[in-house]
Amino acid sequence: MQRRSFGSLSAQVPVIGLGTWNIEKAGRSAAVTALRTGLDLGMQHIDTAEMYGMGRAEEIVGQAIAMRRDRVFLVSKVLPENASRKGTIAACEASLTRLGTDHLDCYLLHWRGRHPLDATFAAFEQLQRDGKILSWGVSNFDVADLEDFARLTGGIMPACNQVLYHLGVRGVEHAVIPWCERRGVAVVAYSPFGQSNFPAPRSPGGRVLARIAAAHKVSVRTVALAFLTRRGSVFAIPKAVGAAHQTENAAAGTLCLSDTEIGEIDVAFPLGPRPRTLPSI
Ligand code: NAP
Repeated sequence: MQRRSFGSLSAQVPVIGLGTWNIEKAGRSAAVTALRTGLDLGMQHIDTAEMYGMGRAEEIVGQAIAMRRDRVFLVSKVLPENASRKGTIAACEASLTRLGTDHLDCYLLHWRGRHPLDATFAAFEQLQRDGKILSWGVSNFDVADLEDFARLTGGIMPACNQVLYHLGVRGVEHAVIPWCERRGVAVVAYSPFGQSNFPAPRSPGGRVLARIAAAHKVSVRTVALAFLTRRGSVFAIPKAVGAAHQTENAAAGTLCLSDTEIGEIDVAFPLGPRPRTLPSI
């Protein structure tokens, strides 16, 4: 599994991580097994949130990482409605309890809400001083939001911006990824398979993926993840319960596509015009 710097952090983080939204729906035992399988395959980068399963996803993650916390890059998120100064600190402490750990590697504002960003930032700084988070970041932030945040932090950058990015929705390539790259901010691609909207095998794009996958003896999902993480700034966090799915996803962490293959995928899944607002789920 390839690792790379997570923005400006010194931590080397697996390019492919593990999403956990809806993971509790598989049942606790299957979900814990799935996460442990993913960790064993090298995807030692877990994304969760207080929102997921109303805390149940974090409890499952806590069980999965027990005895191996030190080998995991652990990320969770505060809901916007909790993101006041006091609320962020309380939400983080509740997440830590559910996760059975004393710190997060990165703590994100899930999306921008009604609380002023400076209150959330003050809480992040306090949590960092207290050793409860090692870094902080944002999610679903467009360039204007990133600039607002950078203005109030006096230029201190978030470690990452987690955004919707898959073959059918490449809008972040226009401005968000370049903005982040110029400032050493990691980009984390969420819903990298578009949830259930992955290209059909017989669609023109699906055939391009299949041809490239066959040439590398990997799956089309592996090719899609390798394409999304082709730039040094980007990570992806697919959610998978099936062991075969996990194996295919982890394989993207070692697959290197040629420039020709990247060009073919680029044509098959066109970038399209810059969206007026940042796409999100
Ligand atoms: P996703 O990862 O795009 O898709 C998940 C679906 O793909 C599941 O049905 C899964 O099936 C299937 N799958 C996974 N690997 C597969 C494979 N190799 N072959 C075939 N099917 C495969 O969707 P997502 O869960 O929305 O996004 C991933 C993570 O991003 C989330 O879990 C969450 O951690 C994060 N996220 C963040 C935000 C945000 O606002 N920051 C929003 C959405 C998501 P099985 O589960 O049956 O294996």
